[in-house]
Amino acid sequence: MKDCIFCKIRDGEIPSPKLYEDDEVFVIRDINPRAKCHYLMIPKDHYAYLGDKNANGEVLGRALKKIADLAPSLGLSNGYRVIINQGADGGQEVMHLHIHILGGEKLPL
Ligand code: 5GP
Ligand code: ZN
Repeated sequence: MKDCIFCKIRDGEIPSPKLYEDDEVFVIRDINPRAKCHYLMIPKDHYAYLGDKNANGEVLGRALKKIADLAPSLGLSNGYRVIINQGADGGQEVMHLHIHILGGEKLPL
């Protein structure tokens, strides 16, 4: 998708080290971390948001399991929180579906 930051990172047009990558998703550090560890897991296919009717539930389900598998290598052995922001009320800023992964410290509720 033209003019999409996460598509550009996926394609290497904007540099951002990928901590994990496979054929479906990649993981980067959030540029503006809201916790000691703040990562984004981003499906490679461009869907604007969770409610996008084309968003692939199987990819998303596997993404959640991958987060659980990757957690120790991301410094999240003590726990973490996953968040998907949707739309204006959810505070979504980047219109390419992504999953926030926060941890590395005790998070406030
Ligand atoms: P949203 O509010 O859409 O759920 O979250 C978008 C996230 O992407 C924000 O936490 C923001 O800090 C992060 N972000 C925006 N632009 C970039 C970027 O160019 N690189 C990285 N690594 N993160 C970004
Ligand atoms: Zn995109």
